[in-house]
Amino acid sequence: MPELSYLNGKIRPISETYVPVEDRGYQFGDAVYEFIASYNGKMFCMKEHLDRLQHSMQGLSFPKLSETFIENAVFELFEKAEIPRAGIYIQVSRGVAPRDHAWPKEIKLQVIMTIKEVKEVPLKLRKDGVDIIIVQDERWSNCDIKTVQILPNAMAKQKAKNQGAYDAIFVSKDGIVREGTSSNFFIVKDGRLITPPLTKNILPGITRKVVLDLAGDTGIKVEERFILKTELFSADEAFLTGTITEILGIKTIDGIQIGNGKSGEITQKLYKALREKAEI
Ligand code: PMP
Repeated sequence: MPELSYLNGKIRPISETYVPVEDRGYQFGDAVYEFIASYNGKMFCMKEHLDRLQHSMQGLSFPKLSETFIENAVFELFEKAEIPRAGIYIQVSRGVAPRDHAWPKEIKLQVIMTIKEVKEVPLKLRKDGVDIIIVQDERWSNCDIKTVQILPNAMAKQKAKNQGAYDAIFVSKDGIVREGTSSNFFIVKDGRLITPPLTKNILPGITRKVVLDLAGDTGIKVEERFILKTELFSADEAFLTGTITEILGIKTIDGIQIGNGKSGEITQKLYKALREKAEI
């Protein structure tokens, strides 16, 4: 089960792949990405991820790169690596050009991928829930585009870790809750599931959509509306969603206990439903 990389059609061990120094993704963050996971040798929500990649590429006015081309490349890498529970990172950069803010007309997109075994979230955290902190959202205003410019996310995650917490959520300076550093955010209140609506301030998470659909299937009422910071502490449950995070309960926010201080009942029920759906 080798961990491999893909660079413009060439598949090699990750340690043997190098990106040119004038790749615009490297110098300007001029690149978009996706992360897809497989369960039991089957990719989960591949089409949704590839559609979102197209949305991100359009958002940065990249030339068209067909979805089928990327799909075939993903499968080629997936088949070579033979990792049943794999995480595939896909990055498309605008390409390599002499350093200049504006880009030349003739420039060829670079497709880079890596495939590795998924590191599961520890079972104890799944059961007990995690501690998270609040950080002010100082990111740009196009967070619906999945660019590689995620330094604020990395800084926020590191801040959480330095404080002994698991992760952070972004809240606007006006107190509107947005999302996690690499996840979407939900609360449960009086049996209803509440999550922020899709705006340009959050990523349209694929897991978020799966969770909303699963909630509908299991008769849980759903509200897509803004959540205020002041509402957080009276929530019955709260959780994060993401491709690797899946559905992860929150036990405290900024040190204040949420609900009964464990991963909640609805959180666990949805997690079970998600795993069942993904593992079919
Ligand atoms: N928001 C951000 C900022 C993310 O990086 C991610 C992870 N890709 C998510 C939300 C969750 O998205 P998904 O469910 O598609 O993994």
